[in-house]
Amino acid sequence: MSVLDKFSLAGRTALVTGGYRGLGLAFATGLAEAGADVVIGARDVAASKEAAARLAERTGRTVIGVGLDVNDRASGQAAVEAALEETGRLDILVNNAGACVHRPSLDIPDEEWDEVFSTNVDGLWKLSQTAARHFTTVGGGTIVNIGSISAQIVNRPQWQPAYNASKAAVHQLTKSLAAEWAPLNIRVNAVAPGYVKTEMAPVDEPQFKARWIDDAPMQRYAVPEEIAPTVVFLASDASSFMTGSVVVIDGGYTLH
Ligand code: NDP
Repeated sequence: MSVLDKFSLAGRTALVTGGYRGLGLAFATGLAEAGADVVIGARDVAASKEAAARLAERTGRTVIGVGLDVNDRASGQAAVEAALEETGRLDILVNNAGACVHRPSLDIPDEEWDEVFSTNVDGLWKLSQTAARHFTTVGGGTIVNIGSISAQIVNRPQWQPAYNASKAAVHQLTKSLAAEWAPLNIRVNAVAPGYVKTEMAPVDEPQFKARWIDDAPMQRYAVPEEIAPTVVFLASDASSFMTGSVVVIDGGYTLH
């Protein structure tokens, strides 16, 4: 097998949560371009089906859109079953769905705190467990979690304490599950992006620009397509000896 062959995902199926827009869509696209069939899971069923149809047409892969709320274990189970029904398999889970609230700590209502943690941590955990239970029946699988450099730095002045703490939990859960599931041939890794131009990042605010562009080694934000290749790599056999890794992709931001 050549080095390039190791990056191929032909014959595999990937499930991407929140995969119809933003980083999730870039991941779904990258995985399909690498040869995988893809299940796009999103709370907005119509939008996920629309995105899936467009991606199927572009790549010639089987791409389906399903309703998926990561907080709802039953919908996670249904998404796994849809993958099995429509493509015959599930090999890769990309836990991309995420929530972020920018608010100073003293003003955060419980509901906002709970939404961030339930999406970023509990939801990721529930779907990982559901997928891993399937992976144990077929000899293994791969999970890629989307963490953040917010796990290690504090974003100011757009305070986001719940988000920061939740992404630190994602990184540590990645390592815990990787160690526990390695004997089951289930690899678990994470990427930790810096600032990426999507709806989640308030990139046009002047204060934000000062901190995240002027003060950054590469003097710019990333675009989603710059994060996707690493997700494809971690999903593929090219990373076959990697598990429990958190790969930082931040244009050097955390170097200082
Ligand atoms: P977006 O806000 O553009 O997308 C977030 C996605 O998560 C949406 O598709 C959203 O769906 C989905 N989602 C939220 N809650 C749920 C839920 N309960 N069930 C299913 N889907 C849900 O953000 P990004 O694309 O920027 O973020 C994607 C991931 O990347 C997140 O985990 C984020 O934390 C991470 N990240 C982003 C960075 C950035 O700078 N943009 C930097 C580092 C990490 P819906 O439309 O229904 O709300």
